[in-house]
Amino acid sequence: MSNFSRGLLKWQRVNGRHGLPWQLNPSPYRVWISEIMLQQTQVKTVIPYYRQFMKQFPNLKRLAKADLDEVLHLWSGLGYYARARNLHKAAIQIMEVHKGRFPTDIEEVIQLPGIGRSTAGAILSLSKGQRHPILDGNVKRVLTRHRGINGWPGDKKVEDILWQLADELTPNQRVAEYTQAIMDLGATVCTRSRPACQDCPVMNDCFAYKHRQQTMLPSKRIRKTIPVKQAIFTIIKNHRGEILLKRRPPTGIWGGLWSLPECPMDEDIKKWIEQHFASKVTSVKEGPIMRHTFSHFHLDIQPVQVNISAKSIGIKDSGEIYWYKPEDKLSKGIATPVARLLQDL
Ligand code: SF4
Repeated sequence: MSNFSRGLLKWQRVNGRHGLPWQLNPSPYRVWISEIMLQQTQVKTVIPYYRQFMKQFPNLKRLAKADLDEVLHLWSGLGYYARARNLHKAAIQIMEVHKGRFPTDIEEVIQLPGIGRSTAGAILSLSKGQRHPILDGNVKRVLTRHRGINGWPGDKKVEDILWQLADELTPNQRVAEYTQAIMDLGATVCTRSRPACQDCPVMNDCFAYKHRQQTMLPSKRIRKTIPVKQAIFTIIKNHRGEILLKRRPPTGIWGGLWSLPECPMDEDIKKWIEQHFASKVTSVKEGPIMRHTFSHFHLDIQPVQVNISAKSIGIKDSGEIYWYKPEDKLSKGIATPVARLLQDL
């Protein structure tokens, strides 16, 4: 075992994170759900979502049988909704292809929707003690700093070097503890800004510490400024004060979630609503623009309040359309900016 791994294991015993909900009875199913929730999301945010999810979907069978809407609703607020859609899809696939048992062969796990090599490695090492390296964002940060690896870790060449290193450092024994240790070190000590090097078990031979390059590593991606897109969200209100929600198409941003109808930028809003919803518009009022930022672009949302007359008969509740009463609790999966707009009403 390398000094690096030995140091991490010793540190983990005393300083690592213990007693997290998914560490109790760490079955592949429970670890899988936690690993997906923890992607791009901090532990303290995930804990209440995880508990609620486990309450509602305590096992794979229950998740596979659930309605996608039920899953998306539980996910509301966590963001990156493709994760929830993939969880649901993967659960159905496991029921069909693996007779309801979570696969324990890494190649089969990687075949499941939404699971990459690192997540598959984490699931099988944490739940089954199988020896697999992991390479999530935290681990990339620790390794690039500790070994002084330059270049953006998202580059294939740099990533290959990191995978090889991660593999070399993964011990043959106590793999689950080691996996937890390297995740914990990245999350709590070797943090993105101001790493706590004095508390680090591998400080003595750390390149970044020795050369004071903690802020330079990992190297940043050289990228241009992200583009700004625009959208018009119509808040269509009927004479009973109900708001019209429409389900978004299954692919694309907020796929499958409920949203406010989006009017194309080049259309006349009044005409567009009258045409598409067979409703008579009585008033149109623009609200302040709201910016929502995705990883690849900003979306400037122009909310427009539209009242329609009592005689409007064109729109009825269906699988794609829903009249939401603002005084009721919303039990559907909904995108965060849409929830904010509804709250502001
Ligand atoms: S010494 Fe500092 S920079 Fe190096 S691995 Fe530890 S926390 Fe990260």
